[in-house]
Amino acid sequence: MLLGAVADDLTGATDLCLMLTREGMRTVQVIGVPDAGFDFTDADAVVVALKSRTIEPERAIDLSRRAAQALLDAGAHQLIFKYCSTFDSTPKGNIGPVADALLDLVGESAAIVCPAFPENGRTIYQGHLFVGNLLLSDSPMRHHPLTPMTDSSLVRVLQAQTDRTVGLIPHATVRKGATAIRAAISEAADRGESLLVVDAVANDELRAIGEAVSDMKLITGGSGIALGLPENFRRAGQLDSARSSHHFNAPEGRSVALAGSCSEATRRQVKGAMERGMPALKIDPIEIGQGATTIEDVVAWVRSQEATALVYSSTDPQEVRSAQEQLGPHAGEVVEQFLAGVAVALRDDGYRRFVVAGGETSGAVVQALGVNALEIGAEIDPGVPWTLSLSDDQPISLALKSGNFGAEDFFIKAWNAL
Ligand code: ADP
Repeated sequence: MLLGAVADDLTGATDLCLMLTREGMRTVQVIGVPDAGFDFTDADAVVVALKSRTIEPERAIDLSRRAAQALLDAGAHQLIFKYCSTFDSTPKGNIGPVADALLDLVGESAAIVCPAFPENGRTIYQGHLFVGNLLLSDSPMRHHPLTPMTDSSLVRVLQAQTDRTVGLIPHATVRKGATAIRAAISEAADRGESLLVVDAVANDELRAIGEAVSDMKLITGGSGIALGLPENFRRAGQLDSARSSHHFNAPEGRSVALAGSCSEATRRQVKGAMERGMPALKIDPIEIGQGATTIEDVVAWVRSQEATALVYSSTDPQEVRSAQEQLGPHAGEVVEQFLAGVAVALRDDGYRRFVVAGGETSGAVVQALGVNALEIGAEIDPGVPWTLSLSDDQPISLALKSGNFGAEDFFIKAWNAL
């Protein structure tokens, strides 16, 4: 294993796997902290997907350290801590606390912080994160149900999550290339800055950053940061010349789409699916909380549809707020567990192809299905591949979509890529 990664949510992990696969590394995604002796097969890169974005920092630290240690024990030369390209975190973390803990683990004093993913419109300039042409704080992320992002300054957001000093490698340096970036990182570390936000607005800059950090033990960022890393191993003769991405045969069985994301892109995709005639059932957390809507009701409805159906809780910020007011802070979990229950019942009923929208939602579904490793297959939209569950008697195909990813016809076209 050359690269080991710890991702703070499931769809983010998949996105990173896809990036590494595209860049020629054979990549396996593992779900949850791997047991001692876990068989990583002959993977060049392993991405461990945790569900640690919004849990208590102590628990996130514990899971992340254990996952990172397992990867190091299996021979990983370099570690990535992967978080969302919109820097999704709560005021307490967990980006800062986990980055700190992993720096301690690898015994280094500095790591870069770079969530840029220009292909999906995430760019960083003067330490401010943009989503398309909007500052993060003006983007729909300010209404996220779990991690509302109301400040676009990554330096400020991260400084509130760590006791270490946060610094900035500005775009003026980044555009000069790998040698200048490497020098700036070393100067910042000499000044006592530990977590270095790095500007990036284009893929060639991410590749230069990748080259500049070839000797660093820990790298933190979004999946974009992985663009330039495989080339380092290739240059060092440790990785074969580009391998083509793997395509698997999807298992036979019925298909269903489940959406628990309230992100704007997912809401557009739900609308797009309905406009194109996909049968769709909206579920309401308050009715679920009252027992007025049950898993059995929803499963019966899905089964009664001739065409592939969509079950969604996706809704606008106002309805999310009223669900949170009535159900308290666990409103999100109520919906996640409900959709996970629907997925399990449908799997038991012979469904084998699942599209799931929402990072946390995907985490809950995969956990409930008992899937512990995924192979990466064909890409549907940037950052969203089909995957196949590994080491199961009854493999399942899963497309796990981060809320904000994918085009408007995602729920319709996803099946064509299988
Ligand atoms: P994304 O990838 O868009 O961030 P997630 O699944 O990670 O999506 O997060 C969405 C959160 O919102 C989940 O915890 C989900 O259960 C919760 N949620 C979904 N629908 C509703 C709703 N109608 N009201 C309140 N919370 C909801």
